[in-house]
Amino acid sequence: MPIFLEPRDAIDDLKGFQSVLIVSCPICPPMCVSIQQKKAFLVPLKHGVKTPAFEDYIASIRDALATYKVRTDAFTMRLPVPMMCLWTGRQRARLLKRAREFEAVLVLGCDSATYTAVDALRDTQCKVFQGMQVKSITNATMKYRSPATVTLDWHPLPSRPKIGKFNEPSEETHTPV
Ligand code: SF4
Repeated sequence: MPIFLEPRDAIDDLKGFQSVLIVSCPICPPMCVSIQQKKAFLVPLKHGVKTPAFEDYIASIRDALATYKVRTDAFTMRLPVPMMCLWTGRQRARLLKRAREFEAVLVLGCDSATYTAVDALRDTQCKVFQGMQVKSITNATMKYRSPATVTLDWHPLPSRPKIGKFNEPSEETHTPV
C-alpha cells in the first residue's frame, strides 16, 4: 500500500556518528520524492529502476553528512521482496551483515520499514533513525510519456482514511512541498 511520506531532517541526529548507512525502501519513498519534486518517477533508459530525484535526495543527505566527516553509504534491496515492510529473513540478514560496518542506520521509509531495520539489528549496538515521516496513505496514476519516461499523477487522499463510504470530498489532504 503506498504510504505518503515526507522527508525528515535527520542530520542533527546523525552528525555525531563516524559512519551512517542509509537504508531505503524502494517503493513508497522514491514515489513520494518524485511527486513532491514534480519530477519523473522513472527514466528507464538512463537510470534503470532507480528514481533520479530519490537518488539525488540520498546524495544530498550523504553530502550534508560529509561536511561533518561522517562516512556514509547507501543500501537497498529489490529482490526477492522490494517492500521493506515484507523483507524476508535472508534480506534482514543481509542488512545486518552490511550494517555491522556502521555506527548508525538512517531508514528512508515508513515506520514499518524502520521496524524491519530495528528487527534486523536488534542484537547490535547500531542506532536506527527514521528519515521520513508518514503523513497518509496515497494514490497516483502511473503514466508513460515519450521519450521513455514514467511519471506519477498524484491524487491526494484524506490524511485520516475514512471508514466505510470513501468517495466523499475531504478538505484535509496533504500538499507536496
Ligand atoms: S515499508 Fe513502508 S514505505 Fe516501504 S513499501 Fe512498505 S509501506 Fe511503503
